[in-house]
Amino acid sequence: MAKEFDDQLMDKLVSLCKRRGFVFPSSEIYGGFNGFWDYGPYGSRMKRAIENLWWHEMVETRDNVEGLDSTVIAHPMIWKASGHIDQFSDLMTDCKKCKSRYRVDQMADPTTCPNCGSKELTEPREFNLMMKTFVGPVFDDEHVAYLRAETCQPIFVDFHSVRVATRQKLPFGIAQIGKAFRNEINPRNFTFRSREFTQMEMEFFCDGEQGMEWFEYWKEQRIKYYRDKLGFEESFMRIYEHEKLAHYAKAAIDIEVKFPFGWGELEGVHHRGTWDLSQHSKFSGQDLQYIDHDNKTKVMPTVIETSVGLDRTMLALLAHAYDEEKAATQKADMEEDVRVVLHLPAVVAPIQVAVLPQSKKLKENAYNLYKDIDRFFRCEYDETGSIGKRYRRQDEIGTPFCITFDFDSLNDNAVTVRDRDTMQQERVNITQLRRYIEDKIF
Ligand code: ATP
Repeated sequence: MAKEFDDQLMDKLVSLCKRRGFVFPSSEIYGGFNGFWDYGPYGSRMKRAIENLWWHEMVETRDNVEGLDSTVIAHPMIWKASGHIDQFSDLMTDCKKCKSRYRVDQMADPTTCPNCGSKELTEPREFNLMMKTFVGPVFDDEHVAYLRAETCQPIFVDFHSVRVATRQKLPFGIAQIGKAFRNEINPRNFTFRSREFTQMEMEFFCDGEQGMEWFEYWKEQRIKYYRDKLGFEESFMRIYEHEKLAHYAKAAIDIEVKFPFGWGELEGVHHRGTWDLSQHSKFSGQDLQYIDHDNKTKVMPTVIETSVGLDRTMLALLAHAYDEEKAATQKADMEEDVRVVLHLPAVVAPIQVAVLPQSKKLKENAYNLYKDIDRFFRCEYDETGSIGKRYRRQDEIGTPFCITFDFDSLNDNAVTVRDRDTMQQERVNITQLRRYIEDKIF
């Protein structure tokens, strides 16, 4: 997957995502809605595959991490305790001439408009990113509530209930996947900075003395996940160590990856000390300390957090997977033939296996085969157009295996399996098919 991104890559991705139903602007028939994106048929499959992979890695394969699915709207005091209501803001400025709006910390030169070059900018002012709504019949200040700005706060709030219900002892973690909402001043770079997005977060509660050890552990685990499970090469990843830490934090790193527009944060791994549970204890009046019955002691657990954006994961995967390969053409006057292919890891590809009858006369047999293997993999059946065209359609959405059922299949009970990356074809007996693909995917 290693290659330099071409300058047009983002435009090409946006166009492919729209054309093939991965991602398109929300509310498009009304002109779109800035910062909101819909995931189409292939995009939603891929999104779910990434969620499943993360969930499997972080929850299902670990005895000491539990899952949670909390509400998007919760008691507003949560956001007071977490500091979001008072401090979750960015400085923004407007260009008086062209009316463009910017986040001051993202401007190379905060005195000049990057769009029109005007020097006439408004005084920077604080802008809170929390999205507001009202709960109940009266729309006044008392009934204001917030859409969660991150998925981790409900984890802290439910810490006690989860611990009691599961009888977990320190150290243990709680993980959740869900939507988060931020009224970003300047949504941009496709899904990278959206106003509604999905986070996958895990909070690991431990004794403060082991905090740094666990921080190092989770940092390694997460880097390994990107390398081994998502196939990100070392040259596409880097670690950014925070120099300025929040007053309560002991250590913080970002895992950054190369996006078409440059390096960007994909995941944060943070040592948050005892800040979160202490704040919620203080504001709720409930003691959230952990009672160690064996040693008859009480401790306020230290938290190590791993926090990743699902939308950014998918964007990074698509960017790294996108390739254009020049195919040889027979005729000199023909336009250059370009194969667009997504070299996605099979585990997250929206379709893992496509079943194609060589001729429509074989549709019944091919369709039955498709139904058989559809139980084990994400499959698609396609009978329209030439085999070559059908291969290309599958390449463009990143399908690792195309299976062709041909006339010989009727006699030898075997099919041709074509590999997306090598384009090699192999004859495989139908009785061995599931095993053959499983061996290559998992
Ligand atoms: P940034 O500095 O890019 O605004 P952040 O440091 O505020 O990000 P966190 O609050 O640490 O981000 O959120 C954890 C993860 O959630 C980020 O690493 C990112 O993958 C994702 N994320 C945050 N904001 C957005 C957004 N506006 N759109 C899409 N994903 C986001």
